Amino acid sequence: MNTEMLDHWIDGAPAKGESTRTGAVYDPALGEVTKQVRYASAADVDAAVASARAAFPAWGGASIAKRTQVMFAFREILNARKDELAEIITGEHGKVLSDAAGEVARGLEVVEFACGMAHLSKGGFSANASTGVDVYSLRQPLGVVAIISPFNFPAMVPLWFLPVAVAAGNTVVLKPSEKDPSAAVWLAERLKEAGLPDGVVNVVHGDKEAVDALLTHDDVAAISFVGSTPIARHVYETGTAHGKRVQALGGAKNHMLVLPDADLDLVADSAINAGFGSAGERCMAVSVVVAVDPVADELIGRITERMGKLVVGDGRRESDMGPLITADHRDKVAGYIDLAADDGAEVVVDGRGVEADGGAGGFWLGPTLIDKVPTTSTVYTDEIFGPVLSVVRVSSYGEGVELINSGRYGNGTAIFTNDGGAARRFVNEIEVGMVGVNVPIPVPVAYHSFGGWKQSLFGDAKAYGPQGVDFYTREKAVTSRWLDPSHGGVDLGFPRSV
Ligand code: NAD
Repeated sequence: MNTEMLDHWIDGAPAKGESTRTGAVYDPALGEVTKQVRYASAADVDAAVASARAAFPAWGGASIAKRTQVMFAFREILNARKDELAEIITGEHGKVLSDAAGEVARGLEVVEFACGMAHLSKGGFSANASTGVDVYSLRQPLGVVAIISPFNFPAMVPLWFLPVAVAAGNTVVLKPSEKDPSAAVWLAERLKEAGLPDGVVNVVHGDKEAVDALLTHDDVAAISFVGSTPIARHVYETGTAHGKRVQALGGAKNHMLVLPDADLDLVADSAINAGFGSAGERCMAVSVVVAVDPVADELIGRITERMGKLVVGDGRRESDMGPLITADHRDKVAGYIDLAADDGAEVVVDGRGVEADGGAGGFWLGPTLIDKVPTTSTVYTDEIFGPVLSVVRVSSYGEGVELINSGRYGNGTAIFTNDGGAARRFVNEIEVGMVGVNVPIPVPVAYHSFGGWKQSLFGDAKAYGPQGVDFYTREKAVTSRWLDPSHGGVDLGFPRSV
């Protein structure tokens, strides 16, 4: 077994910490352990927070020019070495290299957004609000903020938060997923190369113990979390109970509504891309196709034909889809295929037993298509988070919208139609935070904010974009008067403009 050990990153250097707990990191396409990672104790988290706290006065007080210069340099380094990062992602997550490169590109977008922090964090000024009195507002950083990220985007999700938090003047403790932790340390090393002072970004690895230590730490001002809904709820409730600002993005079950007038080739391509890209391990994956009569049979034919051509295999080879993250997760996802049959659905394509172009021990499951899924089945109600695409047939647009709106998640959705009026109505009526019109994975660009509704987001602020800037800063309003001959006199009344 490989015994290479991944350390924490504290105060600008690798750190072993005091805990002796560790976990294995796998290459999912081989099913082999490639390294071990340390699991932080509360004392290790405390060391990382202490480093971030010590770095805050200088970094928070540094000029915006200095902070954004580091971001510009980081952008150049990341762009020059993006292939290296994509390889790290594929080696630990399993997604194919082109998909990993796409993840890095979307992360880079947020770095570029944060380079504009001088403009983004500008306050307002009202001259002479009262006679001789000026009122202005400014935005200041919060202090130490924690970022807790999931396995499915080991670079992009940290990059949704890190650049905005840091450019705004905060210092950070990042706790990446213990399943694919190397990308986070790689990013911290590149930030140091870009000129970021030691202690501004720290990385601690681990599990619940590390997360709970962050949620309850007196010196942590805010938490940005992304992961499954039960953990997001726990993070939100515990973090806010400890007086922190929290944004906790949770799970999803995304529907694609297909009207009979849609371009069915576009729909079939989109269902494949959004259903099976990254082996369905995306919070914006489409997991349910809602087919309005009479479109289902024709659409299923076109999807099935395309599924037959997909190559499942090692992401470093010419594959379309890689393995799942762990053997346990693969088995859990595969279990839903039996469940579907038991619940009366029709398994059209069964991905079990797929012949993958990869390691014999890899965590493989092929693309799976299930028709006529009852909406009472857990195959419909659970977030499966794997390459399993369900089809639900409905008789009208209205029935489709009602179905989507009745779900407990509200992350992403899409409508496919050539009818602009229907699309416009859908955009207004649908109770989901991110909507696509003939676009299957509507992840907003960096200058709009990312986040769902209902149980897909706990808290008031979405990630990145204007809401990200608001989340990582607090506004201060200043009312100022410089003495002139008009001052003076005692007046116990409430101040008002005169
Ligand atoms: P997860 O909830 O298992 O883990 C997320 C983070 O929480 C990890 O850092 C993990 O170490 C930590 N964690 C795990 N168990 C914990 C516990 N009991 N207490 C405290 N912390 C704990 O999620 P995952 O499996 O890594 O990621 C997949 C999930 O993330 C899916 O549900 C997916 O929809 C969701 N996700 C959501 C978005 C979004 O933007 N809404 C984006 C990406 C992923």
